Amino acid sequence: MCYNKDGEVKMAIIDGKELRKKKLEELKERIKGTKKQLGLAVVQVGHDEASNVYIKQKEKLALELGYYFIHKNFEENVTQEELIKELNILNNDDKVDGIIVQMPLPHHLDASVIQNTISPLKDVDGLTYVNAGKLIQNVDGLVPCTPKGIIDLLDEHEIALEGTNVVVIGRSILVGKPIANLLVNRNATVVLCHSKTKNIAEITKNADIIIVAVGKKHYLTADMVKKDAVVIDVGINRENGKLYGDADFDNLKDICSYITPVPGGVGPMTVYELMNNVHLAYTLRKKK
Ligand code: NAP
Repeated sequence: MCYNKDGEVKMAIIDGKELRKKKLEELKERIKGTKKQLGLAVVQVGHDEASNVYIKQKEKLALELGYYFIHKNFEENVTQEELIKELNILNNDDKVDGIIVQMPLPHHLDASVIQNTISPLKDVDGLTYVNAGKLIQNVDGLVPCTPKGIIDLLDEHEIALEGTNVVVIGRSILVGKPIANLLVNRNATVVLCHSKTKNIAEITKNADIIIVAVGKKHYLTADMVKKDAVVIDVGINRENGKLYGDADFDNLKDICSYITPVPGGVGPMTVYELMNNVHLAYTLRKKK
């Protein structure tokens, strides 16, 4: 069972939009203390519709915060060398504090090579080998945005992590693996499940906290969750113009002590964390 700091168990829908608003106000204060205009560069290949929407959201928030924003959009047939050349220009551009390459990339490009061309000090998606290694070793670095947002949501609701049993479903480098590491660093006991895991329902039934990042509508059902567990739903599944999470929210909400809705839960935090990482990247780079 999960308790807040007063030892109570409460049912609550975790509101990511509210927390984002609060965190943005705090970030605006921190930005006031910086001596330069912060800058974010987004590199995109092709014209994937979902990517266009995500980039627009990033641009809107970056401009609202007064960031310098640059969007480099290459055609689908761009070569790996051209992309690497552009990333090196951005690595050396002092106006740019953070760089992201919008995924997915076409198959002829090696996403890992591209990602690792970004300077670790500007890697605001936290996906380079250097930053992934720092996360494992629990050393300050740049951490992927969605997992950071999840930790902020849990902390805001004073959901204890130390000593709790957490099940993470999904092992991507963007969500599942980094959130598992962040939770281990906070002294939780973590089981990381994926498509080859057997009897997942038996594992989730013992969890105090379940984080589901699979990409399948209503994957996590009420019979997989014990009473008063916390469910963090990362999934974004589009169907007939509507968004659905990986958790069957309607049937889970009366069982869980806390649950995130989709939309309005984890999603709003991700873009905020990106903007926060740009500020953090600037401060880390300044120290060097
Ligand atoms: P991903 O790279 O496709 O990874 C999906 C993971 O789910 C994989 O590890 C896969 O296992 C596992 N999986 C697939 N089917 C499974 C099953 N039947 N049982 C157990 N595990 C299964 O996806 P992702 O990038 O982590 O994203 C996951 C979801 O979160 C997507 O819906 C995505 O749109 C959403 N998302 C949301 C945000 C946000 O801001 N809210 C941010 C990022 C992603 P294998 O490794 O064995 O294949």
